[in-house]
Amino acid sequence: MTPLTIFWFRNDLRTSDHPGLFQAASEGVVLPLYIFDEEGAASFKMGGASRWWLHHSLHSLNRSLEQKLNVYAGSATEVFKKLLSHHTVQAVYWSHSYEPWHLEQERAVKNLLQQHQVEFRIFNSSLLWEPRAVLKPDGRPYQIFTPFYAQATLQSDSIRAPLPAPSSMKLIKDDKNDHSIDSLPLLPTTPWYKKLESLWNVGEEHAHEQLSSFLKRGVFGYQDKRNTPALNQTSRLSPHLHFGEISAHQIWHSTRKVAVGSLKKDADFFLRELGWREFFYYQLFHFPELGWKNFQQKFDRFPWRHDDALLKAWQKGETGYPIIDAGMRELWQTGTMHNRVRMIVASFLTKNLLIDWRDGAAWFWDSLVDADLANNSGGWQWVAGCGVDAAPYFRIFNPILQGEKFDPEGIYTRRFVPELRRLANKFLFTPWEAPKAVLEEAGIVLGKNYPLPIVDLQESRNKALQAYHHLT
Ligand code: FAD
Repeated sequence: MTPLTIFWFRNDLRTSDHPGLFQAASEGVVLPLYIFDEEGAASFKMGGASRWWLHHSLHSLNRSLEQKLNVYAGSATEVFKKLLSHHTVQAVYWSHSYEPWHLEQERAVKNLLQQHQVEFRIFNSSLLWEPRAVLKPDGRPYQIFTPFYAQATLQSDSIRAPLPAPSSMKLIKDDKNDHSIDSLPLLPTTPWYKKLESLWNVGEEHAHEQLSSFLKRGVFGYQDKRNTPALNQTSRLSPHLHFGEISAHQIWHSTRKVAVGSLKKDADFFLRELGWREFFYYQLFHFPELGWKNFQQKFDRFPWRHDDALLKAWQKGETGYPIIDAGMRELWQTGTMHNRVRMIVASFLTKNLLIDWRDGAAWFWDSLVDADLANNSGGWQWVAGCGVDAAPYFRIFNPILQGEKFDPEGIYTRRFVPELRRLANKFLFTPWEAPKAVLEEAGIVLGKNYPLPIVDLQESRNKALQAYHHLT
C-alpha cells in the first residue's frame, strides 16, 4: 500500500492559502477527508441554512480536488480507525478549529493517532493572530477590543502572505467508503432553501469574486455606508469566512493593497471589522463557554422572561415595530441580516422583551448562513451587555429612532415588510400613530394585516433598567 498523508478538512474548505494542505501535497499522496460528525455538538448542531451552504461548499471543494474528496458521516474517531486499518497512513494534518466540540473531537483523534504512532500536525489557517500570541503585558488575555486590536496590529508584519494552491496534488479516493456529499443530512426534503440559491454563490472561487468586487466597488465609503441596510455596501464575506472558503489572510493582504489614498480610511475600517472576528475567536479560545455562559457572571441572576408568544412574534417578524420585523424577515428569507439590524433586533429581544440572549442566538444559529459560534455568541453577549467589552446594558436601541436614522427612506423596511409599502415615511416606523385616513389610504388595518406593537417601548425599557439595577 502507498504511504499517504490524510488531510482532514473542517471549516477550511478551500485549496489556496492552506498551509496544511500545501504541506501535505508537497510530501506525496494525499487522502483528502471531510467528516460530518455532530456527536459532540449537542445544541450546536448545524442549523438548516448552514447545512445548505455546507452542501454546496463541499461540492465546490470536491471539484477543486478532482472529485477525490472523501466524505464520511459519524464519529471522527471511528472514521479514523477504519482509515488506519485500510491504509498506510504516515501522517494526518488539519487546521486549528476553536469550537469546543471540535477540540473534543480532536483530542480523541490525537489519542488514537498516538496509539498508532501516526504523526499529526495542526496548522493555523484561519486566524490572523494566534490567540496565545496576543497578551497583555501581565500575560493575561485582553478583554477590551481596542487595546487587543492595537497590540495585534503591531504584529501585522508577521501575518503570513497567502500561499497559492498546491501546483499539483496526488489525491486518492478511499474505495471502501460508500458515503457521498449527497448522502449527508444537509439538504431538507422540503425545498425551502431554493430562495437562497438565487442570492448566494457558494465556494472558494465565488468567495474571491465577492472579495474583488467588494474591493472595487464596496469599500469606498464603507465606514459610513456599512450602517445603511438598504445599501449593498458590506462585503457579504461572512459565510465564506465561516466555512473557510477564503482566509482572513487573503482578505487582509488584498485589502492592504488597496488601502492607499482616498481608500485608506475605509479599507482600514474594514480591516478593523475583520479584527472583531479575530477578537471573538480570541475570546472563544480563552473562554470556551462563550456560547452558553454569560461572560459577566452577575448576569446569571438576570430575571429573563420565558414567553413563547413574544419569542415567536420576534422570530416571525410580527412585533409591530417595522425595523425589527424587516430584519427578522430578511433573516428568514435570505439567510442573513445586516449587522446594524442584528444589533437592533438583539437589543429588542434582550431588553424590551427581556428574553434570554441564548434564545435569540439559537434562532440565529438555525437561520444564518454565516452562523458561527464565536461571532454569534460574541455578538449576542455584546448586545445583551453580559459579554466581554460589551455595550453597556443601559444602552437600549430605540427601534423607531434606529429605523428613522439608518433607513430614512424606508427602502429596506418596505422591501421586507411589503404590507407597509404604501405608508408615508413620516409614519413608517410608527404606524400606530398614523391617522385612520392615512392607514386606510395605505391599505393597512393594524392588528389585522400588520400587528400592533407587542410591547410598549418606554415601559419595557424601564423594566429592563430596573432588572439591571437589581444586579449591580
Ligand atoms: P462586513 O461588514 O463586510 O465585515 C467583514 C467581515 O468582518 C465579516 O464578514 C465578519 O467576518 C467580520 N465582522 C464584521 N463585523 C463583525 C462583528 N460585529 N463581529 C464579528 N465579526 C465581524 N457574524 C458572523 O460571521 N456569524 C454570526 O453568526 C454572527 N452573528 C451575529 C449576531 C449578532 C447579534 C450580531 C450583532 C452580530 C453578528 N455577527 C455575526 C457579526 C456581523 O453581523 C456579521 O459578521 C456581518 O453582518 C457579516 O456581513 P459582511 O460579511 O457583509 O460584513
